[in-house]
Amino acid sequence: MHSGFVAVAGRPNVGKSTLVSALTGVKVAIVSDKPHTTRRRANGVYTSGDVQLVLTDLPGWQRPIDKLTERMRDTVDAALEGIDVVLLVLDCRARIGAGDRFVARRVFSLGVPVVIALNKIDRLKHGHVATQMKTAAALGDFHALHPVSAKTGDGVGELRDDLISLLPEGPAYFPAEQTSDVPVEVQIAELVREQALRLTREEVPHALTAEVVEIEDGHVRVNLYTETESQKQILVGKRGAVVREIGTWARPAIEQLLGRRVFLELVVKALPRWRRNATLLERLGL
Ligand code: GDP
Repeated sequence: MHSGFVAVAGRPNVGKSTLVSALTGVKVAIVSDKPHTTRRRANGVYTSGDVQLVLTDLPGWQRPIDKLTERMRDTVDAALEGIDVVLLVLDCRARIGAGDRFVARRVFSLGVPVVIALNKIDRLKHGHVATQMKTAAALGDFHALHPVSAKTGDGVGELRDDLISLLPEGPAYFPAEQTSDVPVEVQIAELVREQALRLTREEVPHALTAEVVEIEDGHVRVNLYTETESQKQILVGKRGAVVREIGTWARPAIEQLLGRRVFLELVVKALPRWRRNATLLERLGL
């Protein structure tokens, strides 16, 4: 058997979560077009025959600015121990710049093979892709560079084959049917947060977190925390319209996850400065 761990690295919003889902065939972390969405470590697992590829979808590799981002950096450090390959993801639509080089410096100093995925090629003309490939190639001594589209699946199969070819001999770390090691409570909270992010404006996303407080007999209770009263009002909406909409969209996904009908109860609470409160972050599992 060949098996191993691939750490997925890259600036926020380059498409890491989407690519992990495309590589494993399952939805792993939540996806949103707002930065700083992926906060937790989430493993996507691809098992086929005598091969097991474990992908660790890392939180944003930004410089820490508060307790939350500090913890995110610590999560990255912990996740980097014992990895076999790094998958460095770049967004070919954006200029490959200082942010990417910041991540690349760290990645190329780890002493494991680095595979670069130049993502979002569905949005670019061929000529431009070639130019971006040249810039990407200058980032460091990489094993392979794959232009891909996580969205259309273009190039994803070849990328997966290449990652698999770099795996050492090893055991199956997860049962074949398991596709993620994220607890079901966390997955539910993320599904709710995903819809909350989608339905609210700029100022809310970074200040938002969700916690499952009860799952019993198809009754799922989730608290949504904001930092301020005004953010809470936005999330609740006029006569509860926004929070109701969040529930309407999140419920089918939760039902699919649990394999049963659920009654979803959402409660919005303002919890001032939750991002600076280490005890609270611990409780929320962030
Ligand atoms: P992450 O922060 O790096 O995990 O990025 P996400 O996976 O959350 O993706 C950020 C945004 O880019 C989302 O809106 C995705 O739908 C979008 N995206 C990801 N991959 C692609 C792609 O291959 N093509 C296009 N057009 N958009 C993509």
